[in-house]
Amino acid sequence: MSEQLRRTRIIATLGPATDAPGMLKKVLAEGVDVVRLNFSHGNADDHRARAAAARAAAAELGREVAVLGDLQGPKIRVERFADGAVHLDVGARFTLDCRADAPPGDATRVGVGYLDLWRDVNPGDLLLLDDGLIVLDVINVVPEQVQCEVRVGGRLSDRKGINRQGGGLTVAALSDKDRHDIQLAAEIQVDFLAVSFVKSAADVEQARRLLQEAGGDAAIVAKIERTEAMAVLGEIIDASDVVMVARGDLGVEIGDAELPGLQKKIIRETLERSRAVITATQMMQSMVESPIPTRAEVLDVANAVIDGTDAVMLSQETASGRHPDTAVAAMRRVCLGAERQFEPKLDFGSGARVLVRTDQAIALASMFLADRIGVRAIVALTESGATARWLSRHRSSVPIYALSRNDAARRRMLLFRDVHPIDFDPHDVGPMQAAREAIQHLFRLAHLVEDDRVILTTGDHTGQLGGTNTLKLLRVGPAGLAEGLGDL
Ligand code: PGA
Ligand code: MN
Repeated sequence: MSEQLRRTRIIATLGPATDAPGMLKKVLAEGVDVVRLNFSHGNADDHRARAAAARAAAAELGREVAVLGDLQGPKIRVERFADGAVHLDVGARFTLDCRADAPPGDATRVGVGYLDLWRDVNPGDLLLLDDGLIVLDVINVVPEQVQCEVRVGGRLSDRKGINRQGGGLTVAALSDKDRHDIQLAAEIQVDFLAVSFVKSAADVEQARRLLQEAGGDAAIVAKIERTEAMAVLGEIIDASDVVMVARGDLGVEIGDAELPGLQKKIIRETLERSRAVITATQMMQSMVESPIPTRAEVLDVANAVIDGTDAVMLSQETASGRHPDTAVAAMRRVCLGAERQFEPKLDFGSGARVLVRTDQAIALASMFLADRIGVRAIVALTESGATARWLSRHRSSVPIYALSRNDAARRRMLLFRDVHPIDFDPHDVGPMQAAREAIQHLFRLAHLVEDDRVILTTGDHTGQLGGTNTLKLLRVGPAGLAEGLGDL
Protein backbone atom coordinates (compact mmCIF):
# COMPACT_ATOMS: atom_id res chain seq x y z
CA MET A 1 0.00 0.00 0.00
CA SER A 2 2.76 2.43 0.84
CA GLU A 3 4.36 2.21 -2.57
CA GLN A 4 3.07 4.92 -4.90
CA LEU A 5 0.96 3.43 -7.68
CA ARG A 6 2.06 4.63 -11.07
CA ARG A 7 -0.77 6.17 -13.10
CA THR A 8 0.93 6.85 -16.45
CA ARG A 9 1.57 3.86 -18.70
CA ILE A 10 4.92 3.14 -20.32
CA ILE A 11 5.42 1.75 -23.84
CA ALA A 12 8.84 0.40 -24.86
CA THR A 13 9.85 -0.39 -28.43
CA LEU A 14 11.55 -3.77 -28.85
CA GLY A 15 14.64 -4.20 -30.99
CA PRO A 16 18.17 -5.57 -31.01
CA ALA A 17 18.93 -4.00 -27.63
CA THR A 18 16.02 -5.75 -25.88
CA ASP A 19 16.96 -9.03 -27.64
CA ALA A 20 20.02 -9.27 -25.37
CA PRO A 21 19.70 -12.20 -22.94
CA GLY A 22 17.63 -11.28 -19.88
CA MET A 23 16.97 -7.70 -21.04
CA LEU A 24 13.30 -8.13 -21.81
CA LYS A 25 12.60 -9.31 -18.31
CA LYS A 26 14.52 -6.35 -16.92
CA VAL A 27 12.62 -3.74 -18.91
CA LEU A 28 9.31 -5.33 -17.99
CA ALA A 29 10.29 -5.44 -14.34
CA GLU A 30 11.18 -1.74 -14.52
CA GLY A 31 7.59 -0.96 -15.45
CA VAL A 32 6.79 -1.47 -19.13
CA ASP A 33 3.06 -2.01 -19.68
CA VAL A 34 3.03 -2.27 -23.48
CA VAL A 35 5.76 -3.45 -25.86
CA ARG A 36 5.91 -2.02 -29.37
CA LEU A 37 6.92 -3.98 -32.45
CA ASN A 38 8.12 -1.46 -35.03
CA PHE A 39 7.28 -2.94 -38.43
CA SER A 40 9.60 -0.37 -40.06
CA HIS A 41 12.54 -2.49 -38.94
CA GLY A 42 13.17 -6.22 -38.74
CA ASN A 43 11.40 -9.07 -40.50
CA ALA A 44 8.28 -11.07 -39.67
CA ASP A 45 10.22 -13.70 -37.72
CA ASP A 46 11.85 -11.01 -35.57
CA HIS A 47 8.41 -9.68 -34.65
CA ARG A 48 6.96 -13.13 -33.98
CA ALA A 49 9.90 -13.98 -31.75
CA ARG A 50 9.82 -10.68 -29.85
CA ALA A 51 6.08 -10.87 -29.15
CA ALA A 52 6.45 -14.43 -27.88
CA ALA A 53 9.48 -13.53 -25.76
CA ALA A 54 7.71 -10.52 -24.21
CA ARG A 55 4.68 -12.62 -23.33
CA ALA A 56 6.88 -15.35 -21.85
CA ALA A 57 8.90 -12.84 -19.81
CA ALA A 58 5.71 -11.24 -18.49
CA ALA A 59 4.35 -14.64 -17.52
CA GLU A 60 7.56 -15.42 -15.64
CA LEU A 61 7.13 -12.17 -13.74
CA GLY A 62 3.47 -12.98 -13.02
CA ARG A 63 2.38 -9.90 -14.96
CA GLU A 64 0.46 -9.03 -18.06
CA VAL A 65 1.87 -7.17 -21.02
CA ALA A 66 0.14 -5.83 -24.10
CA VAL A 67 1.66 -5.90 -27.59
CA LEU A 68 1.41 -2.99 -30.02
CA GLY A 69 2.24 -3.52 -33.70
CA ASP A 70 3.23 -0.29 -35.45
CA LEU A 71 2.83 -0.19 -39.23
CA GLN A 72 5.54 1.58 -41.18
CA GLY A 73 3.00 3.47 -43.28
CA PRO A 74 3.77 5.23 -46.54
CA LYS A 75 6.95 6.81 -45.26
CA ILE A 76 8.70 8.14 -48.31
CA ARG A 77 12.36 7.20 -48.36
CA VAL A 78 15.39 7.61 -50.56
CA GLU A 79 16.58 4.31 -51.98
CA ARG A 80 20.11 2.98 -51.58
CA PHE A 81 23.45 4.53 -52.46
CA ALA A 82 26.19 2.68 -54.29
CA ASP A 83 28.46 3.19 -51.28
CA GLY A 84 25.87 3.18 -48.51
CA ALA A 85 26.05 6.93 -47.89
CA VAL A 86 27.12 10.25 -49.44
CA HIS A 87 27.95 13.71 -48.19
CA LEU A 88 25.77 16.54 -49.51
CA ASP A 89 27.42 19.96 -49.63
CA VAL A 90 25.48 23.18 -49.18
CA GLY A 91 24.66 24.73 -52.55
CA ALA A 92 25.24 21.52 -54.52
CA ARG A 93 22.64 20.14 -56.94
CA PHE A 94 20.95 16.89 -55.98
CA THR A 95 18.24 15.04 -57.91
CA LEU A 96 15.57 12.72 -56.59
CA ASP A 97 15.14 10.13 -59.28
CA CYS A 98 11.55 8.82 -59.46
CA ARG A 99 12.16 6.04 -62.00
CA ALA A 100 11.37 2.51 -60.87
CA ASP A 101 14.73 1.36 -62.23
CA ALA A 102 16.84 4.24 -60.87
CA PRO A 103 20.45 3.09 -60.38
CA PRO A 104 22.09 3.14 -56.90
CA GLY A 105 22.65 6.71 -55.73
CA ASP A 106 25.73 8.94 -55.62
CA ALA A 107 26.48 12.51 -54.53
CA THR A 108 24.35 13.95 -57.37
CA ARG A 109 21.24 11.77 -57.37
CA VAL A 110 19.35 8.98 -55.65
CA GLY A 111 16.20 6.94 -56.28
CA VAL A 112 13.06 7.33 -54.14
CA GLY A 113 10.49 4.77 -52.99
CA TYR A 114 7.49 6.90 -53.96
CA LEU A 115 7.53 7.10 -57.75
CA ASP A 116 4.86 9.81 -57.94
CA LEU A 117 6.86 12.25 -55.83
CA TRP A 118 7.56 14.46 -58.88
CA ARG A 119 3.80 14.88 -59.43
CA ASP A 120 3.27 16.14 -55.85
CA VAL A 121 6.05 18.71 -55.46
CA ASN A 122 6.68 22.11 -57.00
CA PRO A 123 9.64 24.46 -57.32
CA GLY A 124 9.96 26.38 -54.07
CA ASP A 125 9.00 23.41 -51.86
CA LEU A 126 11.31 22.37 -49.06
CA LEU A 127 12.07 18.67 -48.66
CA LEU A 128 13.32 17.47 -45.29
CA LEU A 129 15.44 14.33 -45.24
CA ASP A 130 16.46 12.18 -42.28
CA ASP A 131 14.00 13.84 -39.88
CA GLY A 132 15.01 17.29 -41.03
CA LEU A 133 18.78 16.94 -40.68
CA ILE A 134 19.16 17.60 -44.41
CA VAL A 135 17.09 20.22 -46.25
CA LEU A 136 16.64 20.40 -50.03
CA ASP A 137 15.13 23.30 -52.01
CA VAL A 138 13.15 22.10 -55.00
CA ILE A 139 14.46 24.08 -57.98
CA ASN A 140 12.88 22.35 -60.94
CA VAL A 141 10.52 19.44 -61.55
CA VAL A 142 10.46 17.44 -64.78
CA PRO A 143 8.85 14.03 -65.40
CA GLU A 144 10.36 11.47 -62.99
CA GLN A 145 12.90 13.95 -61.61
CA VAL A 146 12.87 16.38 -58.73
CA GLN A 147 15.89 18.66 -59.08
CA CYS A 148 17.01 20.27 -55.84
CA GLU A 149 19.68 22.46 -54.31
CA VAL A 150 21.11 21.48 -50.95
CA ARG A 151 20.15 24.11 -48.35
CA VAL A 152 21.34 22.20 -45.27
CA GLY A 153 23.95 19.56 -46.05
CA GLY A 154 25.34 16.53 -44.28
CA ARG A 155 25.68 12.80 -44.51
CA LEU A 156 22.79 11.01 -46.19
CA SER A 157 22.62 7.23 -46.00
CA ASP A 158 20.41 4.48 -47.42
CA ARG A 159 16.63 4.50 -46.84
CA LYS A 160 16.36 7.78 -44.94
CA GLY A 161 12.90 9.39 -44.81
CA ILE A 162 11.68 12.34 -46.89
CA ASN A 163 9.01 14.78 -45.71
CA ARG A 164 7.70 17.90 -47.41
CA GLN A 165 7.45 20.90 -45.14
CA GLY A 166 3.75 21.67 -44.80
CA GLY A 167 2.77 18.13 -45.76
CA GLY A 168 0.41 17.48 -48.66
CA LEU A 169 1.96 14.46 -50.39
CA THR A 170 -0.87 12.36 -51.80
CA VAL A 171 0.63 8.91 -51.21
CA ALA A 172 -1.98 6.39 -49.97
CA ALA A 173 -2.16 5.68 -46.23
CA LEU A 174 -1.49 1.94 -46.46
CA SER A 175 1.33 0.51 -48.54
CA ASP A 176 1.59 -3.08 -49.79
CA LYS A 177 4.01 -3.76 -46.98
CA ASP A 178 1.45 -2.42 -44.47
CA ARG A 179 -1.16 -4.81 -45.86
CA HIS A 180 1.19 -7.72 -45.30
CA ASP A 181 2.05 -6.46 -41.84
CA ILE A 182 -1.65 -6.25 -40.97
CA GLN A 183 -1.83 -10.01 -41.69
CA LEU A 184 1.19 -10.50 -39.46
CA ALA A 185 -0.38 -8.36 -36.71
CA ALA A 186 -3.48 -10.53 -36.82
CA GLU A 187 -1.38 -13.69 -36.67
CA ILE A 188 0.63 -12.40 -33.69
CA GLN A 189 -2.65 -11.28 -32.09
CA VAL A 190 -1.37 -7.87 -31.17
CA ASP A 191 -3.54 -5.93 -28.74
CA PHE A 192 -3.00 -2.59 -30.50
CA LEU A 193 -2.35 -1.81 -34.16
CA ALA A 194 -0.85 1.62 -34.89
CA VAL A 195 -1.51 3.20 -38.29
CA SER A 196 1.17 5.65 -39.44
CA PHE A 197 0.64 8.89 -41.40
CA VAL A 198 -3.16 8.81 -41.25
CA LYS A 199 -4.74 11.81 -42.87
CA SER A 200 -8.44 11.01 -42.48
CA ALA A 201 -10.91 8.93 -40.51
CA ALA A 202 -11.27 6.76 -43.63
CA ASP A 203 -7.60 5.71 -43.31
CA VAL A 204 -8.27 4.47 -39.79
CA GLU A 205 -11.45 2.69 -40.85
CA GLN A 206 -9.66 0.99 -43.72
CA ALA A 207 -6.95 -0.37 -41.43
CA ARG A 208 -9.58 -1.61 -38.99
CA ARG A 209 -11.47 -3.35 -41.76
CA LEU A 210 -8.36 -5.01 -43.17
CA LEU A 211 -7.37 -6.18 -39.70
CA GLN A 212 -10.82 -7.64 -39.08
CA GLU A 213 -10.75 -9.38 -42.44
CA ALA A 214 -7.43 -10.90 -41.39
CA GLY A 215 -9.05 -12.16 -38.18
CA GLY A 216 -7.56 -9.59 -35.79
CA ASP A 217 -9.46 -7.49 -33.29
CA ALA A 218 -6.80 -5.15 -31.91
CA ALA A 219 -7.60 -1.63 -30.82
CA ILE A 220 -6.55 0.87 -33.49
CA VAL A 221 -4.02 3.60 -32.75
CA ALA A 222 -4.01 6.61 -35.10
CA LYS A 223 -0.59 8.24 -35.33
CA ILE A 224 -0.91 11.98 -35.79
CA GLU A 225 2.16 12.92 -37.81
CA ARG A 226 0.91 14.71 -40.91
CA THR A 227 -0.14 18.30 -41.39
CA GLU A 228 -3.40 17.20 -43.00
CA ALA A 229 -4.43 15.16 -39.95
CA MET A 230 -4.65 18.26 -37.78
CA ALA A 231 -7.46 19.71 -39.91
CA VAL A 232 -9.68 16.67 -39.30
CA LEU A 233 -8.37 15.70 -35.89
CA GLY A 234 -11.78 15.23 -34.27
CA GLU A 235 -12.96 12.80 -36.95
CA ILE A 236 -9.74 10.81 -36.76
CA ILE A 237 -9.98 10.55 -32.97
CA ASP A 238 -13.60 9.38 -33.19
CA ALA A 239 -12.63 6.67 -35.68
CA SER A 240 -9.79 5.41 -33.44
CA ASP A 241 -9.44 3.77 -30.04
CA VAL A 242 -6.12 5.40 -29.22
CA VAL A 243 -4.24 8.41 -30.62
CA MET A 244 -0.48 8.89 -30.74
CA VAL A 245 1.24 12.26 -30.75
CA ALA A 246 3.94 11.09 -33.19
CA ARG A 247 6.31 13.96 -32.59
CA GLY A 248 9.09 12.71 -34.85
CA ASP A 249 7.38 13.11 -38.20
CA LEU A 250 4.89 15.72 -36.99
CA GLY A 251 7.75 17.98 -35.94
CA VAL A 252 9.41 17.61 -39.33
CA GLU A 253 6.26 18.40 -41.32
CA ILE A 254 4.82 21.16 -39.17
CA GLY A 255 7.98 22.60 -37.67
CA ASP A 256 9.31 22.00 -34.19
CA ALA A 257 8.08 25.30 -32.81
CA GLU A 258 4.47 24.25 -33.34
CA LEU A 259 4.88 20.92 -31.53
CA PRO A 260 4.25 21.94 -27.90
CA GLY A 261 0.92 23.53 -28.76
CA LEU A 262 -0.11 20.61 -30.95
CA GLN A 263 0.80 18.07 -28.28
CA LYS A 264 -1.45 19.83 -25.79
CA LYS A 265 -4.27 20.17 -28.28
CA ILE A 266 -4.13 16.50 -29.35
CA ILE A 267 -4.10 15.31 -25.73
CA ARG A 268 -6.98 17.59 -24.76
CA GLU A 269 -9.17 16.68 -27.72
CA THR A 270 -8.47 12.97 -27.35
CA LEU A 271 -9.56 13.00 -23.71
CA GLU A 272 -12.63 15.06 -24.52
CA ARG A 273 -13.57 12.40 -27.03
CA SER A 274 -12.96 9.63 -24.48
CA ARG A 275 -10.06 7.94 -26.25
CA ALA A 276 -6.59 7.13 -24.90
CA VAL A 277 -3.51 9.12 -25.93
CA ILE A 278 0.19 8.24 -26.25
CA THR A 279 3.00 10.81 -26.32
CA ALA A 280 5.89 9.48 -28.40
CA THR A 281 9.38 9.98 -29.78
CA GLN A 282 12.65 11.35 -28.41
CA MET A 283 11.31 11.55 -24.88
CA MET A 284 14.63 10.33 -23.47
CA GLN A 285 16.67 10.39 -26.65
CA SER A 286 20.02 11.11 -25.00
CA MET A 287 19.65 7.79 -23.15
CA VAL A 288 20.38 5.96 -26.40
CA GLU A 289 23.95 6.67 -25.30
CA SER A 290 23.83 8.10 -21.80
CA PRO A 291 22.73 6.35 -18.59
CA ILE A 292 20.96 9.49 -17.35
CA PRO A 293 18.41 11.72 -19.10
CA THR A 294 18.99 15.43 -19.66
CA ARG A 295 17.02 17.89 -17.55
CA ALA A 296 15.15 18.89 -20.71
CA GLU A 297 14.05 15.27 -21.21
CA VAL A 298 12.94 14.99 -17.60
CA LEU A 299 10.85 18.12 -18.03
CA ASP A 300 9.44 16.83 -21.33
CA VAL A 301 8.21 13.54 -19.86
CA ALA A 302 6.84 15.32 -16.78
CA ASN A 303 5.06 17.91 -18.90
CA ALA A 304 3.39 15.21 -20.98
CA VAL A 305 2.12 13.66 -17.74
CA ILE A 306 0.88 17.06 -16.58
CA ASP A 307 -0.75 17.61 -20.00
CA GLY A 308 -2.74 14.47 -19.20
CA THR A 309 -1.26 11.83 -21.49
CA ASP A 310 -2.24 8.21 -20.81
CA ALA A 311 1.10 6.79 -21.90
CA VAL A 312 4.65 7.82 -22.73
CA MET A 313 6.72 5.89 -25.24
CA LEU A 314 10.36 4.94 -25.67
CA SER A 315 11.58 4.23 -29.21
CA GLN A 316 15.29 3.99 -29.98
CA GLU A 317 16.09 4.31 -26.26
CA THR A 318 14.96 0.71 -25.71
CA ALA A 319 15.07 -0.71 -29.26
CA SER A 320 18.70 0.04 -30.01
CA GLY A 321 20.04 2.09 -27.09
CA ARG A 322 22.80 1.19 -24.71
CA HIS A 323 20.66 1.28 -21.54
CA PRO A 324 17.15 -0.01 -22.25
CA ASP A 325 16.31 -0.94 -18.66
CA THR A 326 17.81 2.25 -17.23
CA ALA A 327 15.75 4.31 -19.69
CA VAL A 328 12.55 2.60 -18.51
CA ALA A 329 13.54 3.13 -14.89
CA ALA A 330 14.14 6.83 -15.56
CA MET A 331 10.80 7.11 -17.27
CA ARG A 332 9.03 5.47 -14.37
CA ARG A 333 10.77 7.69 -11.83
CA VAL A 334 9.92 10.87 -13.72
CA CYS A 335 6.28 9.81 -14.23
CA LEU A 336 5.89 9.12 -10.52
CA GLY A 337 7.41 12.49 -9.68
CA ALA A 338 5.12 14.33 -12.08
CA GLU A 339 2.12 12.44 -10.74
CA ARG A 340 2.95 13.61 -7.22
CA GLN A 341 3.01 17.20 -8.46
CA PHE A 342 -0.05 16.87 -10.66
CA GLU A 343 -3.16 18.43 -9.21
CA PRO A 344 -6.13 16.99 -11.01
CA LYS A 345 -8.84 19.50 -11.68
CA LEU A 346 -11.91 17.49 -12.39
CA ASP A 347 -13.99 19.50 -14.77
CA PHE A 348 -17.36 17.90 -15.27
CA GLY A 349 -18.40 20.62 -17.70
CA SER A 350 -15.89 19.54 -20.31
CA GLY A 351 -15.75 16.20 -22.04
CA ALA A 352 -18.72 14.37 -23.36
CA ARG A 353 -21.64 16.75 -22.97
CA VAL A 354 -24.22 14.36 -24.24
CA LEU A 355 -24.11 11.00 -22.52
CA VAL A 356 -25.30 8.23 -24.75
CA ARG A 357 -24.50 5.17 -22.69
CA THR A 358 -25.53 3.98 -19.25
CA ASP A 359 -22.00 2.84 -18.32
CA GLN A 360 -20.66 6.25 -19.33
CA ALA A 361 -23.24 7.95 -17.10
CA ILE A 362 -22.37 5.71 -14.14
CA ALA A 363 -18.67 6.43 -14.68
CA LEU A 364 -19.24 10.17 -14.70
CA ALA A 365 -21.32 9.97 -11.52
CA SER A 366 -18.59 7.86 -9.89
CA MET A 367 -15.88 10.40 -10.62
CA PHE A 368 -18.11 13.22 -9.40
CA LEU A 369 -18.59 11.42 -6.08
CA ALA A 370 -14.97 10.28 -5.80
CA ASP A 371 -13.99 13.92 -6.04
CA ARG A 372 -16.31 14.91 -3.20
CA ILE A 373 -16.41 12.15 -0.63
CA GLY A 374 -12.80 11.03 -0.63
CA VAL A 375 -12.49 7.36 -1.54
CA ARG A 376 -9.44 5.10 -1.62
CA ALA A 377 -10.30 3.57 -4.96
CA ILE A 378 -12.88 2.99 -7.60
CA VAL A 379 -13.56 -0.65 -8.32
CA ALA A 380 -15.09 -1.45 -11.69
CA LEU A 381 -16.48 -4.89 -12.41
CA THR A 382 -16.18 -4.77 -16.15
CA GLU A 383 -16.33 -7.34 -18.90
CA SER A 384 -15.09 -5.33 -21.89
CA GLY A 385 -13.23 -2.62 -19.99
CA ALA A 386 -15.64 0.02 -21.29
CA THR A 387 -16.47 1.31 -17.81
CA ALA A 388 -12.78 1.60 -16.97
CA ARG A 389 -12.26 3.64 -20.08
CA TRP A 390 -15.10 6.05 -19.22
CA LEU A 391 -13.83 6.35 -15.65
CA SER A 392 -10.25 7.01 -16.62
CA ARG A 393 -11.09 9.80 -19.07
CA HIS A 394 -11.44 12.10 -16.06
CA ARG A 395 -8.04 12.82 -14.58
CA SER A 396 -8.42 12.24 -10.83
CA SER A 397 -6.15 11.11 -8.04
CA VAL A 398 -8.10 7.93 -7.33
CA PRO A 399 -6.86 4.60 -8.67
CA ILE A 400 -9.33 2.56 -10.70
CA TYR A 401 -9.16 -1.20 -10.18
CA ALA A 402 -10.73 -2.78 -13.24
CA LEU A 403 -11.72 -6.37 -12.51
CA SER A 404 -12.33 -8.49 -15.57
CA ARG A 405 -12.06 -12.16 -16.45
CA ASN A 406 -11.45 -11.27 -20.09
CA ASP A 407 -7.70 -11.46 -20.85
CA ALA A 408 -7.85 -9.38 -24.02
CA ALA A 409 -9.91 -6.68 -22.32
CA ARG A 410 -7.43 -6.49 -19.43
CA ARG A 411 -4.52 -6.07 -21.83
CA ARG A 412 -6.25 -3.23 -23.66
CA MET A 413 -6.84 -1.50 -20.35
CA LEU A 414 -3.06 -1.42 -19.82
CA LEU A 415 -3.00 1.78 -21.88
CA PHE A 416 -5.46 3.73 -19.71
CA ARG A 417 -4.04 6.10 -17.17
CA ASP A 418 -5.08 5.36 -13.57
CA VAL A 419 -6.46 1.93 -14.47
CA HIS A 420 -5.09 -1.22 -12.86
CA PRO A 421 -6.58 -4.25 -14.58
CA ILE A 422 -6.94 -7.32 -12.38
CA ASP A 423 -7.96 -10.84 -13.31
CA PHE A 424 -11.17 -11.67 -11.51
CA ASP A 425 -13.92 -14.11 -12.33
CA PRO A 426 -16.84 -14.23 -9.91
CA HIS A 427 -18.33 -17.22 -11.81
CA ASP A 428 -22.07 -17.34 -11.72
CA VAL A 429 -22.82 -15.47 -8.52
CA GLY A 430 -25.26 -12.56 -8.54
CA PRO A 431 -24.11 -8.94 -8.60
CA MET A 432 -24.32 -8.47 -4.81
CA GLN A 433 -22.08 -11.44 -4.14
CA ALA A 434 -19.72 -10.50 -6.98
CA ALA A 435 -19.26 -7.05 -5.43
CA ARG A 436 -18.42 -8.61 -2.04
CA GLU A 437 -15.96 -11.04 -3.60
CA ALA A 438 -14.33 -8.24 -5.57
CA ILE A 439 -13.67 -6.18 -2.46
CA GLN A 440 -12.33 -9.22 -0.67
CA HIS A 441 -10.07 -10.04 -3.61
CA LEU A 442 -8.54 -6.54 -3.54
CA PHE A 443 -8.18 -6.79 0.23
CA ARG A 444 -6.24 -10.04 -0.13
CA LEU A 445 -4.02 -8.47 -2.77
CA ALA A 446 -3.36 -5.65 -0.25
CA HIS A 447 -4.78 -3.01 -2.57
CA LEU A 448 -7.43 -2.22 0.05
CA VAL A 449 -7.28 -2.21 3.85
CA GLU A 450 -9.94 -2.11 6.53
CA ASP A 451 -11.87 1.16 6.70
CA ASP A 452 -11.09 2.16 3.12
CA ARG A 453 -14.03 3.76 1.37
CA VAL A 454 -14.60 2.67 -2.19
CA ILE A 455 -16.93 3.29 -5.07
CA LEU A 456 -17.87 0.13 -6.94
CA THR A 457 -19.54 -0.03 -10.32
CA THR A 458 -21.28 -3.12 -11.60
CA GLY A 459 -24.19 -4.39 -13.68
CA ASP A 460 -27.20 -6.56 -13.02
CA HIS A 461 -25.58 -9.45 -14.80
CA THR A 462 -21.87 -9.87 -14.33
CA GLY A 463 -20.18 -10.85 -17.54
CA GLN A 464 -22.47 -8.81 -19.75
CA LEU A 465 -20.84 -6.41 -22.18
CA GLY A 466 -21.56 -2.75 -21.49
CA GLY A 467 -23.98 -3.72 -18.74
CA THR A 468 -22.75 -1.40 -15.97
CA ASN A 469 -25.75 0.38 -14.46
CA THR A 470 -25.03 0.46 -10.73
CA LEU A 471 -22.85 2.51 -8.41
CA LYS A 472 -22.29 1.43 -4.82
CA LEU A 473 -20.64 3.28 -1.93
CA LEU A 474 -18.91 0.74 0.30
CA ARG A 475 -16.60 0.51 3.24
CA VAL A 476 -14.06 -2.25 3.72
CA GLY A 477 -14.88 -4.03 6.96
CA PRO A 478 -12.88 -6.52 9.05
CA ALA A 479 -11.33 -9.32 6.97
CA GLY A 480 -12.15 -7.43 3.81
CA LEU A 481 -15.89 -7.88 4.08
CA ALA A 482 -17.70 -5.09 2.27
CA GLU A 483 -20.17 -3.04 4.28
CA GLY A 484 -22.49 -0.21 3.44
CA LEU A 485 -20.81 3.17 3.76
CA GLY A 486 -23.24 4.73 6.26
CA ASP A 487 -22.70 8.41 6.96
CA LEU A 488 -20.37 10.25 4.69
P1 PGA B 1 7.82 6.38 -36.02
O1 PGA B 1 6.55 7.16 -35.51
O2 PGA B 1 8.74 6.17 -34.87
O3 PGA B 1 7.27 5.14 -36.59
O4 PGA B 1 8.35 7.31 -37.07
C1 PGA B 1 6.58 8.05 -34.42
C2 PGA B 1 6.90 9.46 -34.80
O5 PGA B 1 6.96 9.81 -35.99
O6 PGA B 1 7.05 10.25 -33.86
MN1 MN C 1 6.56 8.54 -37.62
